[in-house]
This record gives sequence, C-alpha cells and structure tokens, in this order.
Amino acid sequence: MLSAEVIAIGSELLTPDKTDTNSLWLTRELNNIGIEVMLKTVVGDDGARLEEAVSDALRRSDIVITTGGLGPTEDDITRQFTANAIGRKLVYHDDIEAHLRERFKAWGREMPEINKRQAYVIDGADILPNPNGSAVGMMAEIDGKILAILPGPPRENQAMFTAHVFPKLKAVAGEVYVRRRILRVSGLGESAVDEIAAPIYTSYKDVQTSVLFNKSEVEIHVAARSDNADVSKATADKLADELAAALGKAVFSTDGETMEQVVGSQLKQRGETLSVAESCTGGLIGQRLTDVPGSSAYFMEGAITYSNEAKMRTLGLSAEILEQHGAVSAECAEAMAAGMRKYAGTDHAISITGIAGPDGGSDEKPVGTVFIGYAGATVVKSAKLVLPGDRYLIRWRSSQAALDYLRRQLK
Ligand code: AMP
Ligand code: MG
Repeated sequence: MLSAEVIAIGSELLTPDKTDTNSLWLTRELNNIGIEVMLKTVVGDDGARLEEAVSDALRRSDIVITTGGLGPTEDDITRQFTANAIGRKLVYHDDIEAHLRERFKAWGREMPEINKRQAYVIDGADILPNPNGSAVGMMAEIDGKILAILPGPPRENQAMFTAHVFPKLKAVAGEVYVRRRILRVSGLGESAVDEIAAPIYTSYKDVQTSVLFNKSEVEIHVAARSDNADVSKATADKLADELAAALGKAVFSTDGETMEQVVGSQLKQRGETLSVAESCTGGLIGQRLTDVPGSSAYFMEGAITYSNEAKMRTLGLSAEILEQHGAVSAECAEAMAAGMRKYAGTDHAISITGIAGPDGGSDEKPVGTVFIGYAGATVVKSAKLVLPGDRYLIRWRSSQAALDYLRRQLK
C-alpha cells in the first residue's frame, strides 16, 4: 500500500477563519485508488518550515502533495522552497511567461511584472497546465517518490489533480480496490464496543478497522483492500456481518445510514405512521426526521410543547401529573406520547422532556436528566436518561436516544 502526505501551504490556513479543505478532497481521491494518507501538515508562508516539511515528508512517504503558495505575490514561496527541499534549481520558462501574457491580454489587461515569478519551474519537473488560473503546477520524481505541487484555490487544485496527477498515481498504485463499510452502534460506549469488536477485526490482517465515538454513537469503520474487487467486497462484508452479529441490536446501521433514515425505513416497510411531542429538544426530532426525503410517507406531525399549558392544551396532560411528578418525569413523558398519538391518530408516537441546561437542574434532577416516552397501540412506556454534555449535546443525544427507543420498539 502506498503512503501519501498532504502539505497545505498558506498562513491564512493557520488562522481561526480559514480551513484547509483541499486535503479532505485529495484524501478521498487518494483513498479511492488505495493510497493511504498517513500525515497532513499545514504550514504558513514560512520558507524554512516549508522546506523542512517537504523534505521530511519525502523521507517518510511515497507520495507528497502540496497545495497553495503558487501565486505571484511575495508570500507565495512554494516554488523556491520545495526546490530547495529537493536540491534542485528553478529555471525560467519563456513559454510560460508568453502564455501568461496572452491570458492577461485575453482578459483585456496588461500582465503585472510580478507574475513573471510564476514562470519559474523546478528543474526537471513536469509542468502541469492550469486552465482555471495563472499558476502552473509541477510534478517530479525524486528517488522513486512522487512530489506534486498544486495551486491553492480548490477549483484550480481539483482540476489539475484530476487531469494530471490522478492518472499518474493510479498507474503507480496498480489495481487496488477498496470496499468500505460503516457500522453505527447505539447504547454502548466506545470501550464496550471495542471489547466485543477487537477480537474479531484484529484477525483480519488486510482490513483497516477503526472504532470512534461520534457525538452520540460509536462508529466502526471497515476498509478492505485487494487487487481484486470481489475479494475486497467479500472481505469487508464478511467482517461487517460478523461485527453486526456479535454486537446484536445495538447496531442500528450497517452501511452508514443515520438513525433517522433507519427509523424511517422501518416505518415505511411496516406502512405505519409516527408523530412526536417534544419539549427540551424544541423540534430537533421533527427536523431530523423530515431531513430524510420521502418522510411524508410516515411522519405525520410534531408538537413543540415547551410550556406546561401547551402540554395540557395540545397533549391533554392533566394538571395533576404536572403537579405531582413535574414536567420532567416518566409520567409526563408517557402522557405526552400517549396524548400525541391520540391527537395525531398515528400508529406510534414518541416524546421527550428533560433539562438541557445550563440552568434548571436540581439534586434530584440534574442537568442532562431526560425522559423519553413511547406510545403504540398496546404499550405506553418511558425511559430515564442522564446525559453528559452541554445544552447542544444534551439535546442532540436526547433526540438520538428517543429515535433509538422507537427503533428498538419496531425491531
Ligand atoms: P495560494 O495558492 O496560496 O495563493 O492560495 C489562494 C487561495 O486558495 C487562498 O486564499 C485560499 O482561498 C485558497 N486555498 C489555499 N489553500 C487552501 C486549502 N488547503 N484549502 C482550501 N482553500 C485553500
Ligand atoms: Mg498563499
């Protein structure tokens, strides 16, 4: 497997305002042909650091791609310091200058003298034309390693990579097929998942597996590589199936689907309908459900019943429940779900009531205390959660837990 590094160049990428997105796009392209990105660097417009970053990268990795710093201004130093890093000179190309002058003429402008800088190219490097901008790119082989130097603007970067770098790398990488699967797991922590999963995935030597926590769920990413498309597919699928079997119903998605997609297809398959009554999530479940195209087939309506009055008026809660148990209680969650189901006339209803914080907690019901409710034709029930996190996370995790509660009910 070939290893790659991406070096994003530009001081603006080290400010809080600008993100290096080129490396994300490049990584996807490289992964698709079986090349693994092992390290990414962001370096400012600083010659010494850039030179060091490039020579370090070429020592470690088979393929090094830089982006940015090819403009005509004083801070665009990539040409000079990548040349230094590989011990080559820059040579001036009259034809590049002539071409630049023509481009400017076509725009009805005179070429500023500083653009002459863009006619310097690393000695012996291939010149990569740029149909979308003034900076040419470069590609060179150094002791069997490949160095590609691309412009920063994504439109220029991507077009140049696709036209000139990708074909070269594909040829070097040979036939590599990568099959990926993503399993999503709810209700189990990262270590609990890994305890079950690791004995299985570590026995697959050619598969890269990672277990990561993601906001409210654990994800298992599986990537199987082979020079044969059928083999990589069979291997990834076999491992995914084994993991899904071992983890049981905690696995809610085996091909990257979101919780709202999974619940949606369950309802669709059964030809049944859903309504939701939300308090502390303020409509988040309704939004997530309706983010899925085609959700009108099963999602009928939602009510954001934030105040006690709304819970009584819309969902028919008795004042007694609210007085005796409070709005954040199992009794309230169940009455909300039952009331919503009746009001909307749906097969199923789910509800959420809780304390998202940062204020409003007590010893008995600390911030993060959430009750989720479910009402179906023959059952009304609820569950209590005490969720960690800030207001945003508590609301997100509540919505996830309520959807998961419904999913397990429908399974
Ligand atoms: P440069 O080639 O360094 O003159 O960069 C030109 C412009 O490209 C910058 O101002 C950014 O808007 C954009 N750019 C440069 N590097 C990146 C990157 N790694 N990701 C996304 N945009 C970038
Ligand atoms: Mg720059």
